[in-house]
Amino acid sequence: MRDTTKQPLEDLKEGYFWLDKSIIKGFDKQGNEHKFYRVKIENSLERLDCTKLKSYDNISDVDLASWQDLIELQKEHLTQLEADSLELIKEKMEKFNTYTSIIPVSMGKDSMLTCHLVRKLYPTKAIFNNTSLDCADTYRMVKTFPNCEIMNPEKGFYQYIKEQNIIFNRISRGCCRIFKVGEMVRRLDHNKPYLMWMGMRNEESNTRSGYQDEWVNEAEWGNTCWQGILPIRKWDEIDVWLYTIWKNIEINSKYKKGYSRVGCAVSCPYYTKSTWILDKYWYPTMRNRWENILKEDFIGNSKWLVMNCTVDEYINQAWNGGVFRDEPTEEVIKEYAKYSNLDEKIAAQYFNKYCDNGCKSQSGKLKRIKAKDVIGMNLKYHGRNISKFYCKKCLMKMYNMDEEKWNKQVESFKQSGCDLF
Ligand SMILES: [Zn+2]
Repeated sequence: MRDTTKQPLEDLKEGYFWLDKSIIKGFDKQGNEHKFYRVKIENSLERLDCTKLKSYDNISDVDLASWQDLIELQKEHLTQLEADSLELIKEKMEKFNTYTSIIPVSMGKDSMLTCHLVRKLYPTKAIFNNTSLDCADTYRMVKTFPNCEIMNPEKGFYQYIKEQNIIFNRISRGCCRIFKVGEMVRRLDHNKPYLMWMGMRNEESNTRSGYQDEWVNEAEWGNTCWQGILPIRKWDEIDVWLYTIWKNIEINSKYKKGYSRVGCAVSCPYYTKSTWILDKYWYPTMRNRWENILKEDFIGNSKWLVMNCTVDEYINQAWNGGVFRDEPTEEVIKEYAKYSNLDEKIAAQYFNKYCDNGCKSQSGKLKRIKAKDVIGMNLKYHGRNISKFYCKKCLMKMYNMDEEKWNKQVESFKQSGCDLF
């Protein structure tokens, strides 16, 4: 997978380097950071390149610290973090002593650390929410994890998206709510006070940077009297890793394959191509299944017209975000023409059309006509070479149609085999 033509990477010996947001870095024995390579992934997800960062050092010029050296260097700091977290756990356990204490775990490094710290003081049950999307590494680990209840969803992710004809992306979210915490919220008594020990950290995101020791998941827990506590919120990523290695806390083997997160495989919209290329390599069956689902979704919903991209671009780059580009390329129109059995000139008529009456969407912008049926009706009623188009509402009004009549009409054109639909 790695391309060694540009820079030989033999010097990346194990136990010394860190992969941080596509940068391969290391530390010297004084603890100073040095950046060496940038990992670049081609859009086709076929190739991965490592290019040496010009402004930074040669590895051989740096007196590199191993992970063990860094643990020694940071021991005082790590010991202090540990003491502070244990102190907090004790304090909150006393404050909420009538609550039932549980630890929701994902088998990721943060929840493993949280579990380790809480259990140092109190034997506490863990709960694993099976998203139905985790990979074999995670399932193997959770099955042998002591004192842990596995909560399986009634309906798995794949069945759910098929029934709903939905692909979750960064704009239409919902999979976290349904699959990551949904089962736990459904099963646990809402009126019983639970104390949840959680591994969220301030460093992780802008939203999380404001979290305090006590936190309630108002969006997802609904009307419950549960209380969350975040004992490791002040730990940095590197603190977590060094402490985990130092204390020999079990590490999910997915991390050893190059992943920076382990929750939800392949279809989480918050992953990016640096994860997808790993999925292709490590979990080809799961990745293939997902690619087929995406392809079916793209073709079935004529997403050329929504996204202005090709099937491959959708699968390898675009599915988890919004409109891919403002105007379709020639290739996009060609591909759409081929799949729809239209000639290219007619196929081009389906892209980026707005209602001639200036109809606007809720956001106040001109409303783009994205539905194939609506363009089809315009072409059917007004001719294939028209330059003025109308939205569904205006067209219905023009021909005195209600929803039922419209659907009947579209259906009958489809039945008759009209290639415009
Ligand atoms: Zn209109």
